[in-house]
Amino acid sequence: MALSSDSSTSREARAKITIQNVSRSYESTRALADVSLSVTEGEFCCVVGPSGCGKTTLLRAIAGLDDPDGGSILVGGDPVTGPGLDRGMVFQEYALFPWRTVRGNIRFGLDRPACDCPDCEARVRELIDLVGLDGFEDAYPKELSGGMKQRVGIARALAPDPEILLMDEPFGSVDARTRGRLHAELLDIWTQTEQTVVFVTHDIDEAVTLADRVVVMGADPGTVQSTFSIDIERPRERTSRDFVDHVARIREELGSPADTSH
Ligand code: ADP
Repeated sequence: MALSSDSSTSREARAKITIQNVSRSYESTRALADVSLSVTEGEFCCVVGPSGCGKTTLLRAIAGLDDPDGGSILVGGDPVTGPGLDRGMVFQEYALFPWRTVRGNIRFGLDRPACDCPDCEARVRELIDLVGLDGFEDAYPKELSGGMKQRVGIARALAPDPEILLMDEPFGSVDARTRGRLHAELLDIWTQTEQTVVFVTHDIDEAVTLADRVVVMGADPGTVQSTFSIDIERPRERTSRDFVDHVARIREELGSPADTSH
């Protein structure tokens, strides 16, 4: 296992997302203090850290939903000035429209949500297939399980075929078995789409299951503490020696041997 630095020249050269000295304060809270990080094109990057260390703030800043006080964020070399179709976001609490069906929610992610041309219809169909919601096209969110709701959230984020997928604890509210299935499905989708993924979680096992690299943040103020390359072949076996070792080292870095969840 490697404890690596983000300043590596090759990573900078292939950077899809470049975060440079980003700071964000809310009154007396320094949510992000001088955060720098590069995410390589096509990388699956997980961000872990204790509650309040600025994970969501960082993700929202990349999404263009929040404006940092200082520093810069570049996506594909261009400064982020607001939300864009090049970045899809998946939220923990699904954020679905309760009055729209599965089809309607997914359609909302398209560039032209009101359009029912054959191309848009075909794209919605393709997304429904991709996330395994065949047969539930006309169901409303209240009729779906947590895992199914999150499949809708993922399909909606994928609708405009973004180059970057930003995921904020997307599986925090689903049961462990469903979470395992969603991990496998997400990795399949990532392999197919070759997107750059930034995935926030407080669950180290989840991060080591998914990531090419795990970024560990520290709190008060929110900073990037260190990064770990996860050089384990996928699919990963949680009981393997390598897996357990990576989890233990990240846990040690976070400074809470028993439970780092909060
Ligand atoms: P995390 O996602 O790691 O739990 P957040 O990014 O949500 O952390 O929050 C980082 C810090 O900033 C926390 O102390 C939080 O209370 C504070 N914070 C986040 N958003 C706001 C806001 N809109 N107003 C005031 N404080 C905020």
